This record gives sequence, structure tokens and C-alpha cells, in this order.
Amino acid sequence: MARKILAAGNWKMNMTPTEAKTLITELVEKCKGAKNDVLVCPPLVDLPAVLEIAKGTNVKVGAQNFYYMDKGAYTGEVSADMLKDLGVEYVIIGHSERREYFSETDEIINKKVTKALEKGLIPVLCCGESLQQREDNVTFDFIRTQIKIALRGVSKEDMTKIVIAYEPIWAIGTGKVATSEQANEVCADIRNCLAAIYDQETADRTTILYGGSVNKDCAAELFAMSDIDGGLVGGASLKSEDFSIIANA
Ligand code: PEP
Repeated sequence: MARKILAAGNWKMNMTPTEAKTLITELVEKCKGAKNDVLVCPPLVDLPAVLEIAKGTNVKVGAQNFYYMDKGAYTGEVSADMLKDLGVEYVIIGHSERREYFSETDEIINKKVTKALEKGLIPVLCCGESLQQREDNVTFDFIRTQIKIALRGVSKEDMTKIVIAYEPIWAIGTGKVATSEQANEVCADIRNCLAAIYDQETADRTTILYGGSVNKDCAAELFAMSDIDGGLVGGASLKSEDFSIIANA
């Protein structure tokens, strides 16, 4: 079954709006010929400028976060409706940096996943183990738990809209890429987990990305693996040349 192949860039807390305009202009030009879907997720304040420049091109735009309540007294937060109104299509949910620095739990992530789906945003749902968990041999159990809680109450139909990103924490921003085999076996297990929750067809239709120090030299090998359908890229997505090579991999 053909799955959507996606190269997604997570700019994290980098790029002022002025810098963002330059980066997205270069990216749009360099990714013109990409056969796969291309997504950039800039900081919130960059979204209007990035959306304007990416409009009508093959580069899609996502946010890195939102709050799961519809509106009200939640100082500093933005809602799904606000993102939709801007023209945002995707939103990253459950990134390990949000889990670690902003205390996001699996339950909060589940609320964000269901709210994003309700409002028509495509969740890029992140999961991944720490080095300690890998060494303790609990990687598969840990990730299955993250996935099961994040997807509580999500229908089979809605599941087909979700993108999952497997991002081992020990590989994020460390320059230490998982081997293709390590990454693929976890992505395959996530797919088996989806088959157990839903069914094989739903699992086979789900786009599962690998993230963790993906760079222009390792992307093609990772993306050629049977259960890896593209990448979620941090550092290398800030360089238009590198990201366009990844997007074309
Ligand atoms: C990320 O932010 O999701 C990520 C994988 O970062 P990096 O590519 O820099 O490791």
C-alpha cells in the first residue's frame, strides 16, 4: 500500500521572522522538484511570513505546538482555530523537548492529538525512548505505551490522517544517528502496534518518520528502509541546501 512520504523540518526556537523569510524563500526554490511531500514547522511568530511565501508551492507549513483548549484565559498559548485560520496544515505534538522542558505528559499529548483532529490539523505525533530505556531493553514497551495513550479515543478513520515520528531521544541534536536497522525495527514495531489497535490496513497506510540527527548523508539510506516513510529533521532543516537534499532523498 502506497504511503505518503514526508520530509519535515522542525526549526525549533530558531529563525527570526526576517531570517525565516530568507530560509523559506531558498527552500521553496530548492524543493521545487521534490517528489515527496515537504513540510516546514517554524516558530509561531514566523508562521505568517512563511505561509505567505510557501503559498501555492509544494512546501507545506506546520506549527510546533498549540494548546488543546478552544479559547480563554490561557496566557501565552495559541489554539488550533488560530493556527487553522492562518492556513497552517500540520502540528507537531509530543516532541521530546516539550515532554522534557514543558512537562507534557502522554495524557496532555492525547488531548492535543484529539483536538488537532477535531479542528482539521494533521498531527505529527512524536515518540521515542531515552538512552537509559534503550539500555534497559524497554524501548518497544515504552513506545507502545506512548502510542496507545496518545491515540486514546482516536477513530480508525482519523488514524489515517496522523503522521507518527519515531525520535529516539539519544539521537536528537546529538549527531548520533540511529542505524537504519535500529530505526526501522522500531518503526516496524510502531506499525505492528497500530495494527493491533486498529487493523493491518490502517497500519500499512500510516506514514511513520524517523527523526534524530538526520543529515544529507544518511537520509537516503534511512528513507529506503521498509517501514521508514521520511524524516523529521531538526538541525539540518535550518540549512536550505542540506534540507533540500534530504527532501529529495
Ligand atoms: C527534532 O527536532 O525533531 C530532531 C530530530 O532534531 P535533530 O535533527 O537536530 O536531531
